[in-house]
Amino acid sequence: MTAYDLLVVGAGITGLAAAWEASSAGARVLVVDPAAAVGGKVRTERTDGLVVEHGPDAFVAYRAAALVLVEELGLSTEVVGVRPGRTVHIRSAGRLHPIPEGMGLAVPTRLGPFVRSGLLGPGAKARAALDLVLPRQLPDADVSLGSFLRTRLGDGLVARLAQPLVGGIYGAQLDELSLDAVVPGLRADEQRHRSLLLAGLAQGRAQRRAAAGAPPGASSPFRSLARGLGSLPETLQAQLLERGATVRLGERVVALEPDGAATIVRYAARSPERVGAVVLAAGATVTADLVAAQAPDAARALREIPHGSSTVVTLAWEAAAFDAPPTSHGWLEADPAPVSGVTVSSAKWPGRAPDGVVLLRAFVPERVGALASAADRVLVAAVAEHVAGVLGAPRPPSLSRVTRWEGVMPRYAVGHLARVARTEAGLARRPTWRAAGADLRGVGMPDCIADGRRAARDALGLEASEDAATRRESA
Ligand SMILES: Cc1cc2nc3c(=O)[nH]c(=O)nc-3n(C[C@H](O)[C@H](O)[C@H](O)COP(=O)(O)OP(=O)(O)OC[C@H]3O[C@@H](n4cnc5c(N)ncnc54)[C@H](O)[C@@H]3O)c2cc1C
Repeated sequence: MTAYDLLVVGAGITGLAAAWEASSAGARVLVVDPAAAVGGKVRTERTDGLVVEHGPDAFVAYRAAALVLVEELGLSTEVVGVRPGRTVHIRSAGRLHPIPEGMGLAVPTRLGPFVRSGLLGPGAKARAALDLVLPRQLPDADVSLGSFLRTRLGDGLVARLAQPLVGGIYGAQLDELSLDAVVPGLRADEQRHRSLLLAGLAQGRAQRRAAAGAPPGASSPFRSLARGLGSLPETLQAQLLERGATVRLGERVVALEPDGAATIVRYAARSPERVGAVVLAAGATVTADLVAAQAPDAARALREIPHGSSTVVTLAWEAAAFDAPPTSHGWLEADPAPVSGVTVSSAKWPGRAPDGVVLLRAFVPERVGALASAADRVLVAAVAEHVAGVLGAPRPPSLSRVTRWEGVMPRYAVGHLARVARTEAGLARRPTWRAAGADLRGVGMPDCIADGRRAARDALGLEASEDAATRRESA
C-alpha cells in the first residue's frame, strides 16, 4: 500500500499543475517543497496598494494551457490584458525607438513599420533585405540562434532587435542559445519559405486576417491576473487542499528508491514514505541528484543544462518626481547599460499601483559583471540613476526591492533538445518517474503548466484523453 499515488517534487507552477492534473483524475497527491511558500519563481508581493512581481509578470494567451488552468480554478474574471495603445521601446544610441509595429520575436511581420523605423540605419536594413535572396542556410544539426540570424539578416538587426527581444527572456546572448529549442519555428520557416522575411510577412498577413474586426489592443498576447500572478499558485494550493491533497512546505526530498513498482521517498527531516509515482519538477540539478543512482545517463544529460542568473530591481516613485510621468510600457536596451530592460508596470497593467505612483522593474543581467552581485544598496542606486537618466526623475525612488534569481535561469544551449531526449531515454526504465518544468520543455508559464500536466498523466499511466479540455466539456 502506498501513502500517495503521486509525489510531486517542487511546488513551482510546473509541480502545482502536475498536482492539479493528478487530483483532477482522483489521485491521492503529495507536493513537497523546501520553500516557505508555493509558486517557485512565481512570486507576488502586495504592499501599499502596489502589486510587485518578483518573477514573471505575464503569460502569453496564444498557448492555451495557462488560460485553461485559470478557467478551471475560477479565476477567469481576474484575467487582465495590457493597457492598449502604449508602446514598448528599444533604447539604441541613447534614444528610445518604438519597436516597429508587427515585429515578431526575431523577424518583422510587416514591412512598412520596419522600413520606416529609425532603429536601424539604411545599411542594416539593406543587409536584412539580403535575406530575401539568400539560399537556405541551415544544416540538419542544431545551431546557435545568433549565428543563424546573423547569417540571414545581418549584425545590425541581431544587435538592435533580436538580441534585446529574445536575449532578455533568457538573460543570455543569442550566440549561446539553441535555434531548435528557443525559436523552433524559424527552421520550419526557412524550410518552407527559404527567406525568413518572406515567412514573417506571410505570418503577418495571416495574423491581420485573423484579427480583422478585433478591438484595438486586443492584439497583445500578454495576460496577467488582477492581484498579480501569485494568485495562480495561491489558488492552486488552496484548491488542492480542498480536494484532500497534501502540500508539504519546508521539507526537502533527498532520495528516491525503487520498491517494486512503487518508490520509497526519503526526506531531509522526516520518515520515509512509499508513493506510486513521481513527478520531478524541482529543476534539472535537483532532478539529476534524485535520479542519479537509477538513471545515471539522465542525470548526466540534466547536469549539462546550463543555468544563469538574473536580478529584478523594482522601484517606485511618486509620479510628481518625473518631468513627465512615463507612458511607455518600458524599454529594452540595445546600448551598454546596467539593465537589459525595464517594464513600467504601472503603465503596462491596470491596477499595479495607486494613481500618482510610477512602479517599474528593471532586469539586471549577469553580463553586467560585478554590479550584478553588488550589495542591494549599490545595485538600487545604479539602476535608479540609469532609469532616472532615461525617464527624467531627479529624486530617489520611494520604494525598492531586489530579487536575485541565482543560477536558476535555464539556458537552452545548442543541443538542448538532444539533452532533453537523453533525459527521457535515461528515465525510460522508471516509467513512473517523470521530469518536467522550465529547465526542459519551455520556460514560459503556459509551457510549464502543460508540461506538468503531461508529466502527471504519464507518471500515473493516465490516458491523454483525460486532458483538461475533455474534462471541461464533459463537466
Ligand atoms: C525574473 C523572471 C521573470 C520571468 N518572466 C516571465 C514572464 O513574464 N512570463 C513567463 O511565462 N515566464 C516568465 N519567467 C519564467 C517562469 O517564471 C519560470 O520558467 C517558471 O515559473 C518555472 O516554473 P517551474 O515550476 O518549472 O520551476 P520553479 O518555479 O523554479 O520551481 C521549482 C521548485 O522546486 C523547489 N525545490 C528545489 N529543491 C527541491 C527539493 N529538493 N525538493 C522539493 N522541491 C524542491 C523550489 O523551491 C521551487 O519552488 C520568468 C522567470 C523569472 C525568474
